[in-house]
Amino acid sequence: MSAYTFEGKVFVITGAGRGLGRYYAQYFAKLGAKVLVNEIGADLHGEGTDPSIADQVVKDIKENGGEAVANYDSVEFGDKIIKAAVDAFGTVDVLINNAGILRDVSFAKMKEEDWDKIFACHTKGTFMCSRAVWPIFREKKAGKIINTSSGAGLFGAFGQVNYSSAKIAIHGFTMALAKEGEGRNIQVNTIAPIAGTRMTETVLSKELIDALSPAYIAPLVAYLAHESTEVTGGAFEVGAGYISKLRWQRTEGKQYDWKKLTPDAIASDWDQITNFEGENDYPESLNDTLFHMMNNVEKNTTS
Ligand code: NAD
Repeated sequence: MSAYTFEGKVFVITGAGRGLGRYYAQYFAKLGAKVLVNEIGADLHGEGTDPSIADQVVKDIKENGGEAVANYDSVEFGDKIIKAAVDAFGTVDVLINNAGILRDVSFAKMKEEDWDKIFACHTKGTFMCSRAVWPIFREKKAGKIINTSSGAGLFGAFGQVNYSSAKIAIHGFTMALAKEGEGRNIQVNTIAPIAGTRMTETVLSKELIDALSPAYIAPLVAYLAHESTEVTGGAFEVGAGYISKLRWQRTEGKQYDWKKLTPDAIASDWDQITNFEGENDYPESLNDTLFHMMNNVEKNTTS
């Protein structure tokens, strides 16, 4: 019997009508959670609405003996979504910010609307739902937020300047909010999944779609969502049964005597400045950078 059960825990899952979100909703309901199935029922580009998409997921969960309610608001109205969960179940324990759309187009052809719609759904949606649940988590001194980024955001992807920007912003959001949650036992993490859903079905083969089942994403989400987990501020790649953690890496760098700091000096030291083979470190906060800078201030002001 697994220790990872969620009996009576209240989950809010955004974009839970299809793909990853639908799988999470069914998975966590089976593990005992009460699930708020948020789903606008939009097409892949974020156009249109269809309440039957959320209703179907709720119906399936109930037919299998689980507890769920539907909510049809866009994630931009996070306060309505969290209120619906509190009205139905009294509280919220876990928020999975998962809703997503695509508006892929090369940068030369990208319209302002392509940028705004992507940011409204992914970044503002993540902010609005998290902000609405935050007072509940602070009061309870407990809560988990799992945000959804993407390899496109972590590494950049052609034709996805809008989506990549929104998705890396989501991890910035995670890192900052995790720091704010530390004193109140609130954990915030990012996943960067790869899964066979309508988002990827046009670019991947049938074999790959099957190997990239959402079933191989949900266990990591369960680990991060469980009350026993203290992990926070992390970014995890997950797909096809592979899971890894990402972090920043900094070169040893070079400290200059200010009088000798010129573009020519930088050019001749470029290999050292960018050398990842030497002494390097793995910064986790701005203080890790300030340490090096203050060290150099001291050297320059005492010499
Ligand atoms: P999907 O299209 O199957 O599901 C996303 C759901 O979000 C849809 O049902 C959609 O209607 C809903 N949605 C869209 N806008 C919404 C809004 N404003 N409010 C509420 N719901 C809304 O996609 P998926 O592949 O399951 O993607 C889930 C998340 O994972 C997304 O954030 C996506 O960017 C991310 N992601 C997916 C992959 C992948 O390989 N599938 C890769 C990287 C990141």
